[in-house]
Amino acid sequence: MTKNIVNIKEAININDLLFLSSFIDYCKDNGIRNLDRDVLQRLHKEKLVFPALKVYKGVAEFRKIYTEISGEKDWRFIYPDDIKKVKVIKKDKKKYYSTAGISMSMIEEYKKVKRVEDPSEHNFKPWKTKTYAEFYTSYKKLQNQYEFIYDKKQILAIKIALPYLNWVNRLSLSEKNRMYKHIRERINSLYVFLNFYSELEQFNKKAAEIRANKISDLNKNYSDKKAKKSEWTDFYNIDFRGQLKKIAEKIMEENKTTVEYIIKWRSFLVEKSLISEACRSKKIKRNYLKGMAEKNLIDAEDVNWMIHIINTFLFFLTRKDEDVKQVLGDYSLKICVICGSNFIPNKENQITCGSPYCVRQHKNQLKREKRLREK
Ligand SMILES: [Zn+2]
Repeated sequence: MTKNIVNIKEAININDLLFLSSFIDYCKDNGIRNLDRDVLQRLHKEKLVFPALKVYKGVAEFRKIYTEISGEKDWRFIYPDDIKKVKVIKKDKKKYYSTAGISMSMIEEYKKVKRVEDPSEHNFKPWKTKTYAEFYTSYKKLQNQYEFIYDKKQILAIKIALPYLNWVNRLSLSEKNRMYKHIRERINSLYVFLNFYSELEQFNKKAAEIRANKISDLNKNYSDKKAKKSEWTDFYNIDFRGQLKKIAEKIMEENKTTVEYIIKWRSFLVEKSLISEACRSKKIKRNYLKGMAEKNLIDAEDVNWMIHIINTFLFFLTRKDEDVKQVLGDYSLKICVICGSNFIPNKENQITCGSPYCVRQHKNQLKREKRLREK
């Protein structure tokens, strides 16, 4: 899979969409403490992490009337069509306008009327800070109001980019460009993975559907508990697993991918979980995990849920049965001496995260130290 994807695009899940401020809260909840609007704007400007969508607000026309509602007289704003329905005492001649809220469930409708943009396809403009929520007589003022929307999963892209941002200003321009190029490549490959991952979510839904249909069938046709159970076991071991294995193999083939690729990205998700970011040894992590029920673990954090989805897929594909608890407890992590992000080492004595940038910086550091010693 070598596509070049600069924004989350196909991996967008309507249920994972958040407005800017909720996305910031979500990131804070999930371990990124220093994230704010300015940082997100900077990531956008530097073409590292784009908002998933830019949605323009609709502008609605209003009339201002003096009316009486439940015995109280007052000025009110009302849709032009509704004027006939109320008692109008006085009427303001001017037209008023106000922006309408954005509803995530309407995104597809907004796309049809061209109110949705992919920010990665447009030149960067500084984010508007002023928003107009009240009623105005100027249509123009309200015309270009918008909201940025992120997909929750983009927290992973931000977790890739942020460790580097803190010290980018210390670098020369050419070094900075090289570093940005590296971050972009990593985020692009993340998005390629997330596109693939969205098929695994579909797979999981499909599995749940088949299961639910069979159970409802069994409940209709069997009154004897024992017979029902034995029929279910037969179905599960042969039909169900067989059917899902086929679907899983098809997904693998269509994406021309390997189990190793999936496991590599699963370990990336492990790196981004609370249990890894806390940077304890494998032994201590396993002690903690001992008492945790699988279901609670899956509910606790979205990365755990993603690991669970991958495990389910791999189970039907390869028959290897692993739970989230096992996977989380399986890795020992280290902290990169250059960028400070945690990583799963490939080699015993590895001390940088392995990103070309950190490897080079570390080499330079060693050279400098050597020169100092030789002086
Ligand atoms: Zn590093």
